[in-house]
Amino acid sequence: MVLATHIVIGSAVASLFPNNPIVGFSLAFVSHFAMDAIPHWDYKLKSKVDLGENPGDPLDSDLEISPQFVRDLFCIGLDILIGVALAIFILGGAGKFSLSALVAGASGGVLPDFLQFAYMKIRRDPLTSLQQLHHFIHTKKRIRNPLIGIILQLVVIILVFVIL
Ligand SMILES: [Zn+2]
Repeated sequence: MVLATHIVIGSAVASLFPNNPIVGFSLAFVSHFAMDAIPHWDYKLKSKVDLGENPGDPLDSDLEISPQFVRDLFCIGLDILIGVALAIFILGGAGKFSLSALVAGASGGVLPDFLQFAYMKIRRDPLTSLQQLHHFIHTKKRIRNPLIGIILQLVVIILVFVIL
């Protein structure tokens, strides 16, 4: 899912433990994989290249440091900003805002995707095993329409808030 969704869900989970950011961070980290298992839309990273023979193989792809990568960094930064703003807006509105829970939840929620980047550059265990696990849990069903994709991620956010 997009990082914004991971940030909102991670912060919501961490805000259940406002006095224990380590628990919040860990639960947010786990929530990333649970969210990735749901069929969803994602924006494409333009700097992503296939290194092996199987196109799209997550163990054999890389993010090339190129002008496209700068454009990707801009999208990722915007994605994070939207997530943090949404988390502050929603948690603040619900009277559950805590800065430590936001920091713990947002960082735990996005860390698995940053570890994918670390894997691409280092390609060593435990990053390799984590990359395999990430891909194994990640849904193979992609939603192609961005509008439907974004609406569905908003629905997931609302559902998680109702459940929490
Ligand atoms: Zn992920």
